[in-house]
Amino acid sequence: MRRKLVVGNWKLNGSLAANAALVAAFRQRFLPATGAVCGVCVPAVYLAQAAELLANTGIEPGAQDLSREVRGAFTGEVSAAMLADVGAKLCIVGHSERRALFGDTDEQVAVKFGRAKAAGLTPILCVGETLAEREAGVTDAVVIRQLDAVLAPHGRAALENAVVAYEPVWAIGTGKTATSEQAQSVHAVIRARLAKVDAGLAAEMPILYGGSVKAANAAELFAMPDVDGGLVGGASLDAQEFVGIWNAMRARLN
Ligand code: PEP
Repeated sequence: MRRKLVVGNWKLNGSLAANAALVAAFRQRFLPATGAVCGVCVPAVYLAQAAELLANTGIEPGAQDLSREVRGAFTGEVSAAMLADVGAKLCIVGHSERRALFGDTDEQVAVKFGRAKAAGLTPILCVGETLAEREAGVTDAVVIRQLDAVLAPHGRAALENAVVAYEPVWAIGTGKTATSEQAQSVHAVIRARLAKVDAGLAAEMPILYGGSVKAANAAELFAMPDVDGGLVGGASLDAQEFVGIWNAMRARLN
């Protein structure tokens, strides 16, 4: 069966004390599930702390971004190998906030995707359209363009040990969630595009939905045949909400 995942994205939030309190509150309520992975993508400076706090819980620490560079004179950058070295297992790549606010292009996202894989991290490749693009009727074309930018240089290898997250930009941090039908429709487009590269691997690829996922809407989204879990921003900062989302996934597996 396809791997399921629920992954939190703390974004630019946290402190040593706040992280310890959040993870402790989460661990008190968290029950693992066979067939599903829970993860949290934390600011890079807190990865070592997260790795320690999450040791032996089955919850995987992850990073939110990585450098395109490997080493050298690139002041301020953090490489994929460094993230892995301090305990990251997952790494978000191409989040819409990186694309929109920090200028990450499709080509740069493809390089980062390759760097993450080369360092043994599982990349979570984010794709998704803006509201203007949805209203212009180009959602599928945008998502396919973003996928193709990664598939072109990496080919079949892009489908191994990787995750895709469909995150409509208009739903991120806005409280507006895509309907489960809207999510399913784009997830099916993504899987069909991946299947053109390798049908077997496409069938196994986890495709997450992200955009204002909450405990209250998770079950409906996760019930869709091509929705394999969630990438969760705001709600991952609330232990009860995040466990509620995780439990919506557990309920599907039990
Ligand atoms: C995200 O940051 O990837 C995200 C989906 O955020 P939120 O859940 O807050 O919409």
